Amino acid sequence: WSSDVCSSDLEASRLIRQDDWVVIDGDAGVVIVNPSPIVLEEYRFRQRQSELERARLDRLRHTPAVTLDGQAVELLANIELPGDAAGVVEAGAVGVGLFRSEFLFMNRGGDLPGEDEQFEAYRDAVVALQGLPVTIRTVDVGADKPIERMSPQELRHEHGLNPALGLRAIRWSLAEPGMFRQQLRALLRASAYGKVRILFPMVAQLGEVRLIFEALARARQQLDEAGRPFGRVEVGAMVEVPAAALLIDRFLRHFDFVSIGTNDLIQYTLAIDRDNDDVSYLYRPLHPAIVRLLRGVAVAGREAGIPVSLCGEMAADPRYTWVLVGLGVRELSMHPSAIPVIKNIIRSSDIKEMEALAEQVLDVSDADEAEEIVLSVMRERFPEHLQHGGGQPLQGERGQGVPEGGEP
Ligand code: PEP
Ligand code: MG
Repeated sequence: WSSDVCSSDLEASRLIRQDDWVVIDGDAGVVIVNPSPIVLEEYRFRQRQSELERARLDRLRHTPAVTLDGQAVELLANIELPGDAAGVVEAGAVGVGLFRSEFLFMNRGGDLPGEDEQFEAYRDAVVALQGLPVTIRTVDVGADKPIERMSPQELRHEHGLNPALGLRAIRWSLAEPGMFRQQLRALLRASAYGKVRILFPMVAQLGEVRLIFEALARARQQLDEAGRPFGRVEVGAMVEVPAAALLIDRFLRHFDFVSIGTNDLIQYTLAIDRDNDDVSYLYRPLHPAIVRLLRGVAVAGREAGIPVSLCGEMAADPRYTWVLVGLGVRELSMHPSAIPVIKNIIRSSDIKEMEALAEQVLDVSDADEAEEIVLSVMRERFPEHLQHGGGQPLQGERGQGVPEGGEP
């Protein structure tokens, strides 16, 4: 192993010469210059193993995610742009569980996409999914996803110091009714091409639910008047504010489905700003308060006969698969690259053991204990997917929740 530590590009070019052999081990965070033959052979062996493992998982692509004792779990994909849709079926997903439409609105200097531009984007995704459901979330801008028209500074100065608690997501849509109806019309028009489910972010008040349905009715009426075709849509709410999770029985009366956004649910329940590194150590997906809320929503959904999906980064993490399914969640939506690993875990498990683990976790009083229980079980059962530590709590951010067995 090289004992020299490089702290700059210049130093790297001093230590590494033309034609040197270099092993870059991203898992361990090391670069080995001119490894010995034994070390090189070890890395070649590991590479062959991971290629074999990936090929084995790829063969599962078109098999359903069903437990050994026959419990089906739907695995869906999270996407950000219509171009991502093509890879969804390829990844073995049974639909799109979350299309974050705000990415169509971001990085364009504050100029917002018009109805036709949005319609084309949604239609392209729907057509690419060939009849499979596409869940499209209305703009969730603000806080961690500002658009130029509402820069973080603007949000901080004009709307208070806590943008995560400010005019974001559905609140912003309801504050801009013309823009909101424009998006709804685009979504309704796209539904003429396939199965569209519209998802509303950050709903916390039943008054918002009433305004959402009024806006939808008005958008349909406008399309009718303009003679534009549109199809039927399913309507759902994100459960990502504790108020919605606690009042879930009331919210379920109005929606065809709900989707739990654990990234924000954890942020708001534990009062941890998901963008603040100083408190990231407190971001604990298995905190008993979170586990109880998840359980409550899953049970209420089952009792009401309304599907409950989960689309936060927890869904993509192999450490949490047993707990989530054991708590009663039957739809998980994640980055497409995570699907093979999560599918493999589900197909190798028995629902009874998942439920037993969830019961154990529901019984503890603190996050450390819950993590210890879950990690020891999951590491023992799935060492191939949890080999590199698997002990760090997730940050709950897009891109940071990539599972250890998944693509970098
Ligand atoms: C969430 O909050 O869990 C979620 C899926 O939405 P986002 O990360 O886009 O806020
Ligand atoms: Mg969210």
